[in-house]
Amino acid sequence: MIVMKFGGSSVANAERIRHVADIIRGFADRRPVVVLSAMGDTTDDLLDAADAALTGVITLDAIEKLHKTTAKELGIATTDVDALLGELRTLLTGISMLREVTPRSRDYLVAFGERLSVRIMSAYLNSLNVRAEFRDAWDVGFISDSNYTSADLLPETWENIRKALGPYAAGKKGDGMAMPIVTGFIAKDEKGFITTLGRGGSDLTATIIGSALRVEEVQTWKDVDGILTTDPRIVKEARTVPVATYDEVAELAYFGAQVLHPRSMQPCLQTGTPVRVKNSYNIDAPGSIIVTSHEKAPSPVRAITTKKNVTLIDIVSTRMLGQYGFLAKVFESFATHSISVDVVATSEVSVSLTVDGKKANLAGLRHDLEKYASIDIKKDKAIVTVICDVRRSSYILAATFDVLARDNINVQMISQGASKVNISMICESDEAERVVRLLHESYFGKDGKGGFPIDGGLPPNGGR
Ligand code: ASP
Ligand code: MG
Repeated sequence: MIVMKFGGSSVANAERIRHVADIIRGFADRRPVVVLSAMGDTTDDLLDAADAALTGVITLDAIEKLHKTTAKELGIATTDVDALLGELRTLLTGISMLREVTPRSRDYLVAFGERLSVRIMSAYLNSLNVRAEFRDAWDVGFISDSNYTSADLLPETWENIRKALGPYAAGKKGDGMAMPIVTGFIAKDEKGFITTLGRGGSDLTATIIGSALRVEEVQTWKDVDGILTTDPRIVKEARTVPVATYDEVAELAYFGAQVLHPRSMQPCLQTGTPVRVKNSYNIDAPGSIIVTSHEKAPSPVRAITTKKNVTLIDIVSTRMLGQYGFLAKVFESFATHSISVDVVATSEVSVSLTVDGKKANLAGLRHDLEKYASIDIKKDKAIVTVICDVRRSSYILAATFDVLARDNINVQMISQGASKVNISMICESDEAERVVRLLHESYFGKDGKGGFPIDGGLPPNGGR
């Protein structure tokens, strides 16, 4: 048994849905549970529709048109789709009259995207004589807390999924049981209100189903050959990473690679359920497999990512506070202002850290910190993260600084993640792509030549 998850762009229109339906049919023997995102940019469009409704305007035409035309082009009945679109229009009318939208009603609204896409896919599969049945996530046991827009699943979800999908899991080929087509991204809380799991949350839906049912593998289908060594828009020679660990992928996701939702690795960490990232345009390619640990010593570096628009904050204690008092106070201030920190480096009386330059409003924080420290805020920085085997950091850092020094690039801060799988460096935003290109060439070679040995032969000292 497997889980197959398809993201928004894979189901963006009738043609893509036909293609995905073909892929699903090809795996029918492996008893898939299918998890879908909303079609194309529907989630964004729904959020925009909520904002428009707040100003009294109802903009539903594009969403209606996309879903109705798709259903028509696929030659399926539109009853289920029409019913949901009607409910959606009523909701938007309500918002536009009240001029108010709470996080709870926003989740109710945004959930229509996934609810629509599973109805379309399941109707289409049935029209091809593949028995399928759409399931809203709460009907297969997804129950969350009430932290709307970014809800956490409750532990009972595991057992609920086993109860709801167990019979299908235990079934046999040819028993005629309908293949479940499940909405990604959404759940209900204990009061019965719809919640969402945070943007990109369909990955988590897929991995928790896969882990609860202990499937052979969870497949997440994308438009590229699995996880790549870096962003192919920056380095066109980017290669597929054949094997990565859950830890490595979680770090990749936190540091800007759009691979998988960062939290989606958590269920698999508990069960060791493998996740395979596959390319829907290159079905036979193995893609990348994500597992608990490497069996063979892999290449020292897995991938390089970059996150721009980062603000670097240097904080130096002016009161000669000892390090423990000082750091505690600094992080307390960040917590008070709900500002999350990405990368940190500290000394006895100073700490440098980075925050997301787009999100953070730093005025209040600065005011607090200035009571006991001098602050220097530097904008337009970038984080370049090397996902690697930190046990081999000297070997990796030697290669890193050798190439950066030759190109006169000054790294402004460096931090080795506690997870043992990442080294992060801060540089100027406008240097970030050059840094990524230089490092990619140094680690992975050029035109198939040079770079670290891909099978990972340890450096001469054994990496210690
Ligand atoms: N449709 C949601 C989003 O766009 C969830 C997902 O795609 O995973 O964030
Ligand atoms: Mg989406």
